[in-house]
Amino acid sequence: MKLTFLGAAREVTGSRYYLEACGKRILVDYGMEQGQNYYENAALPVAASAVDYVFLTHAHIDHSGWLPLLYKQGFHGQIFATSATHDLCSIMLMDSAHIQEMDAEWKNRKALRSGAPNVEPLYETVHADETTKLFVPCDYDTDVRVCDGITIRLVDVGHLLGSASIVVSITEDGQTQKIAFSGDIGNLHQPMLRDPDYITQADYVVMESTYGNRSHGPTPDYVAELAQILSETLSRGGNVVIPSFAVGRTQELLYFFRKLKEEKLVTSGADFQVYLDSPLAIEATNVFNEHMICCVDEETLSLIDRGINPIQFDGLHVSVTAEDSKAINEDPTPKVIISASGMCDAGRIRHHLKHNLWRAESTVLFVGYQSQGTLGRQLVDGAKEVKLFGENITVNATIRKLAGISGHADREGLLTWIGHFNANVRHVFVTHGETEVAEGFAAHLRDALGRNATAPYNGESWDLAIDKMLTEGNKVLLTHAEANAIARGDGDTGQLHAQASASETKPAAWLSSRKQKKQPDSAAYGQLQDALQRLTALVDHMQASSSKKQSKLAATLFGLVKKFSKR
Ligand SMILES: [Zn+2]
Repeated sequence: MKLTFLGAAREVTGSRYYLEACGKRILVDYGMEQGQNYYENAALPVAASAVDYVFLTHAHIDHSGWLPLLYKQGFHGQIFATSATHDLCSIMLMDSAHIQEMDAEWKNRKALRSGAPNVEPLYETVHADETTKLFVPCDYDTDVRVCDGITIRLVDVGHLLGSASIVVSITEDGQTQKIAFSGDIGNLHQPMLRDPDYITQADYVVMESTYGNRSHGPTPDYVAELAQILSETLSRGGNVVIPSFAVGRTQELLYFFRKLKEEKLVTSGADFQVYLDSPLAIEATNVFNEHMICCVDEETLSLIDRGINPIQFDGLHVSVTAEDSKAINEDPTPKVIISASGMCDAGRIRHHLKHNLWRAESTVLFVGYQSQGTLGRQLVDGAKEVKLFGENITVNATIRKLAGISGHADREGLLTWIGHFNANVRHVFVTHGETEVAEGFAAHLRDALGRNATAPYNGESWDLAIDKMLTEGNKVLLTHAEANAIARGDGDTGQLHAQASASETKPAAWLSSRKQKKQPDSAAYGQLQDALQRLTALVDHMQASSSKKQSKLAATLFGLVKKFSKR
């Protein structure tokens, strides 16, 4: 039995593991890479059609986003996941496919003008749709026989609705090995979701380490902060506009708003109106409603027992059509508007910003991480004017930011999770974390806790019968240009560059952890990063320009670099 690391080794996205056992070929997660790329993923060692099964930990695109591509390339096997993961994937993979199609269409319109060759979308909605038919829904804490010699068990890991760690039991030549794949390990005390269930028995553990080097600190009082922001804004006649991620974060907000109403905490009136203006968020909310019983904590279950839906309340309106969306701004009554995308770089939120940013009485409230280069980031960094639909809009509204509620365990949470395993785990593979973080966490497991732990590289493979490395991984860091080429889809991995999907599923945690170590979080540095992005776009654009113009820019840039390199 053999385990190969294909992705998310020393990175936080693109989770993919390949298992060979009992004559079967199995993938555990098959995610899309998002954000910055540091190491190239290893290619799937066999044709997609030769893969028998996929075991999927949860629906986030960086764990599931390549499944439609696998289908497109010939995979027609079974995908084992919880029912909630299946239903969330049904909407999230379709959304991802839409973005792939739009992305390709946009590139092809550009190609038409420049004469560049046409590109094909990574996959299309038809592939996403067919992929969702391959799911085998599983219950938590139930042994599921996959085939002779292979059984799996899904354990609630409290990260997202339906999320699971997966324990794979393999019996080969009379020897049984249990391999526990953590998936993304949930943060403690999140609204609605249960805390992670702990696993005690395994021979091997493959675990994430996203926040393996830091603590989230004390949990902020979100209800009190929201109450204050809503009371102030609504009483001065403004709207509270919230750019939000459609799956997870939006449902948390609904949970808090219900509580605000129930406890009459908004002083300007408990009857405030909330408009949910994002078709994806509305669909995701429906999935949450359907699967609530299986995945929520005691507190939420007691609400349900009392006949209260934790994410529904009087005054909640959903906007499905574009007309519904437009009507929100025609009505002058002060209100709360939740819309996507979470980083303001696409979608209906841009219309709401256009109607509210110039109004001093309104508030734009950010509830998630904002990547460099996005409109959301510009606003958080204090931009006085922004461009929307070709118009310059003055920013008079109050810009507020709530500290994010992380869906990931911090260092303490990760140590608690691994601490529940029996002492004779043969090997802990630490993945899904920046290289320094994964290495540091593995070193701590070795030095302080006496575990046999390492941080593998992509391409590394291990014989699990004897805990021996068979193939070394690829330790070469990608150059900036190579990483960009992959991000543009020139490389073998083919990436999604549209920010919308990346930001809908997970804030770029890699960026925050990297920034923490190497870059001061100053507005000036943000401006510098934005300037670099604009420069990169300009250089891309100038591919079609005359050589004279290209040389002139190159000479100017060399001059600048020389000037600023002087000590
Ligand atoms: Zn996740």
